[in-house]
Amino acid sequence: MTSLLGIGECMIELSSAGDDLWRQRFSGDVFNALWYARAHSADDADVAFHTAVGADPMSDQMLAFIRSGGIRCAETPRIADRRPGLYTIQLNGAERSFTYWRDTSAAQMMVRHPGPLWRDVAGADVVYFSGITLAILPPDDLETLLAGLVEHKKHGGLLAFDPNIRPHLWADKDRMLDVISRAAGLSDLVLPSFDDEKTAFGDRTPQDSAKRYADLGAGHVVVKNGPADTIHLQDGQLTAFPVAPVSDIIDTTAAGDSFNGAYIACLLRGLPTEDAISAAQRCAGQVIRHKGAIISRNDLGLV
Ligand code: ADP
Repeated sequence: MTSLLGIGECMIELSSAGDDLWRQRFSGDVFNALWYARAHSADDADVAFHTAVGADPMSDQMLAFIRSGGIRCAETPRIADRRPGLYTIQLNGAERSFTYWRDTSAAQMMVRHPGPLWRDVAGADVVYFSGITLAILPPDDLETLLAGLVEHKKHGGLLAFDPNIRPHLWADKDRMLDVISRAAGLSDLVLPSFDDEKTAFGDRTPQDSAKRYADLGAGHVVVKNGPADTIHLQDGQLTAFPVAPVSDIIDTTAAGDSFNGAYIACLLRGLPTEDAISAAQRCAGQVIRHKGAIISRNDLGLV
């Protein structure tokens, strides 16, 4: 049995559904990836999520939803005076705009309850985290998390990291670039999206992003680039994997997250690289043909 643990935030999502109606879902980058990892994992694989929630009814619903996806979320810390983060998606024609209320979210406290966190980390073959996970943590907690992940590596665990660079979540750009680089340098697998890397680090090509992360210490890098080739770098060898055209794209939310989850799950199942990449591209290709971050196994074409 393999075990994948994701560490991050899940939020309440409200998307405008016409007039004064809102549709409510749950979403968050690491959670999204775990959802698709679960869908691509062996039945007996353990897929777990570490976060923190409040003691309110919306937190109860969020946990129930996470568990409904077959994701283990057993000892989630409850922070009595905090609530889940929330964001809205408003449509203006085809343009989507996002507004966030996450400054005081319970998830920011996820490292303050070390018992469950380190128990889950110790049991995981792969720990998956992101630049958003790091951006929302208080600085001391961020250092505690990174130090714990270094220990995990010393005991043979693997780290998978999506830089998911969101400049608005960081007060200071230099610190953002430093933290992202440190986390990527610790990681065995780094899964950036070229658009983010180009903007934040000024990379000219996805190959440049892959090489930059490899130079920092990441042994395995996969750079996603929308409909353009996916760039894979491992053991010094760069390979470009073309992406099959996808028709009827309606919402690219969670394209990268779903790719990551499917890719990691396929590697844990022992699939060769090219099969894992094409399963991940197929998964992301289905996700973007549906509204919202989370789609069913049925819509993924897996049942
Ligand atoms: P992110 O959501 O992190 O910005 P990308 O936009 O790079 O990530 O997309 C992740 C993956 O989703 C791509 O590698 C590709 O497999 C798939 N994808 C995204 N956009 C398209 C598209 N227009 N056509 C086909 N596949 C796409």
